[in-house]
Amino acid sequence: MGLIPDDITIFKGDYQDRVPNIRRNPVQDWRYTTCGYCSTGCGIEVGVRDGRAVTVRGKAGHPVNDGKLCLKGIWEFEAINAPNRATVPLLREDIGQPFREAGWDAALARTAAEFRRVQQRHGRDALAVVSTGQIYTEEFYTLGKLVRGGLGTNNYDGNTTLCMASAVSGYKRSFGSDGPPGCYDDFEHTECLLAFGSNLVECHPVIYWRLKSALERRRFPVIVVDPRVTMFAQMADIHLPINPGTDVVLLNALAHVILVEGLADQGYIATHASGYDAWREEIARFAPEAAAPVCGIPARSIREVARIYAGAGAAMCIWTMGINQSTHGSDGVVGINNLSLITGNVGKPGGTALSITGQCNAMGTREFSSCSGLPGYRALENPEHRRFVADFWGVDEALFPAGRGPAMTDIFPAIERGEIKALWLVATNPMTSMPDTARTAAALRKLEFLVVQDVYHPLASAEFAHVMLPAAMWAEKEGCFTNSERRVNLVRKVVDPPGQAKSDLDIFLGVADAMGFTHLTARTPAQVMAEIGQVSAGRPCDYSGITYPALEAAGGIQWPAPPSADGAAQGSPRLYTDGRFHHPDSRARLIPLPFEDDNERPDAEYPFWLNTGRVVEHWHTRTKTGRIGNLNKFSPLPYLEMNPRDAAGLGIGPQDFARVRSRRGEVTVLVRLTERVAPGMVFIPFHFARGANLLTLGLLDPHSRQPAFKQQAVRVEKAARPAALAQEV
Ligand code: SF4
Repeated sequence: MGLIPDDITIFKGDYQDRVPNIRRNPVQDWRYTTCGYCSTGCGIEVGVRDGRAVTVRGKAGHPVNDGKLCLKGIWEFEAINAPNRATVPLLREDIGQPFREAGWDAALARTAAEFRRVQQRHGRDALAVVSTGQIYTEEFYTLGKLVRGGLGTNNYDGNTTLCMASAVSGYKRSFGSDGPPGCYDDFEHTECLLAFGSNLVECHPVIYWRLKSALERRRFPVIVVDPRVTMFAQMADIHLPINPGTDVVLLNALAHVILVEGLADQGYIATHASGYDAWREEIARFAPEAAAPVCGIPARSIREVARIYAGAGAAMCIWTMGINQSTHGSDGVVGINNLSLITGNVGKPGGTALSITGQCNAMGTREFSSCSGLPGYRALENPEHRRFVADFWGVDEALFPAGRGPAMTDIFPAIERGEIKALWLVATNPMTSMPDTARTAAALRKLEFLVVQDVYHPLASAEFAHVMLPAAMWAEKEGCFTNSERRVNLVRKVVDPPGQAKSDLDIFLGVADAMGFTHLTARTPAQVMAEIGQVSAGRPCDYSGITYPALEAAGGIQWPAPPSADGAAQGSPRLYTDGRFHHPDSRARLIPLPFEDDNERPDAEYPFWLNTGRVVEHWHTRTKTGRIGNLNKFSPLPYLEMNPRDAAGLGIGPQDFARVRSRRGEVTVLVRLTERVAPGMVFIPFHFARGANLLTLGLLDPHSRQPAFKQQAVRVEKAARPAALAQEV
């Protein structure tokens, strides 16, 4: 018997053959796009034949990837041609009934009528809208204009709260605005890389290639902080296997050493930062010997790493979900920013604090969706910003609340409490992505009206929908993404969407028209982009010099990108190069970070830490990758990583299955025995509907409202091999 049992139905049919299927696809035309999976922002050309996308290739000479693609990118055209594309609007009266096919007029009329009914009867905030990081910036902007300037609900957020909210919050607290200050080119200049909670090799393979290429030209120390011995940790010079949820303690201890040993850049602090005295007082409590028992890193290692980092002429930090998905996520980001500030590593080549974002356009929603503010990083709390945007859009300023509303993770509890009666989900699948699946299902079942807008059907979340709106996907429409280094880039329309599917932009305009709103005057991607250029002029994310032809010619342009004297935007590789930040006094903030250990912890009943994360083959909730045979051949089902010593104690051997229980639920998964996880710790990838989020608790960060997906307690016991694991969607 091979590694995977043959009697599991998931391996039948398409996945029986485990050899990648690479066909020779004659191409008539190659068209320019940007990858629609992760935030790396690789340039891709799609090969077209007879109106179908038949292959892709990396764009040679592209400033991000120079022709390289990862596994997902290589087979991205198969996501377009998947058999489960949503092609026609669907309606039903109640969730127990079958869907029936409907025309767009009927689907939009029903949606508008229900939105109107719920808002008239229960108030504007009884309608909630939760979107995504997957659609184009032009679409985010239009959705924000519809929600803020028309529907007027403050229950509006994106699923980026599940992945990037802590980075946004931390940047705002430290620097006065969101926006990653560095770029990938910083690998070419840095003298030290400190990576927190980032499995770069699997989650951002092309950024990892950028790092490896820089290291081949010039050696510099790479230090990886991660509870698991990830592939990234395996290539590091130093791996710090930190205890889950204690990043703030390690960051404070590193700062303590830098301060005590006189390694801080006092000139930079005096000129560009405020809050030093209060911050120093807190840092005094975090001597390495005090921090070591909490974070699990020996005091001598803390000292060694602090000296390497502070002694480098230029040092950079990167991070992803290991920092963000924590009850201390925002504080973790602030801690990284604090380190950068006290060593003067902001805005200089190789010296930065660079969050590696998640979804292909998580940045676009941050810049222009109006979820947590108003477009162009304007604040709802600022009366001048509210007035400007209301005038610019030609809407009543009273529609804008004086502060941001609940995050996605607070919207679901509000549904449970009966405060929200109707929900519009746009390209997001909370039944797989939210913590504690059973609780999410109960909330969705309670809604009076749910509309799901997506490129695929069926989805787990659509089980509870009354209306399903079929959307065009990546490369079936035109628009822009922004990547992790603020590079705005273009996706050309390459093929037509299937059946009656429409671009998200056209769906938003259709809903607006059905509601009778008249302020959405920009009707095409180019018209919306022109409006974004106007509304963002002079703002931190200035797009005013950006045009589609310029994006294609340059392989993307990094904001701020005002027009230059000759009218062509040059873009800005780095922020804060002049040491001036976005707080009113132009200074960055050094913020004290007291530590409170508030995680669920292992105990006698649930003795293992459960960590969750990604695999290279899959994308988020597998709506895009779940039907791509070549990816499922490598990664067909959820599994549990467990240390062999723990497994031996439980009588679990290679290829056994295990039942994993938490206080929320249980799941039965294949066990992989590996030293990648330490004794006392297990790991499950989060992509599968019958996987990690049946178990997660999801305590929330108080600043960002992002859930802690990586710190919960479970118990594990040997289980019989399931008779069948049906194909998931
Ligand atoms: Fe796409 Fe990210 Fe892979 Fe590049 S690294 S091909 S952007 S999934």
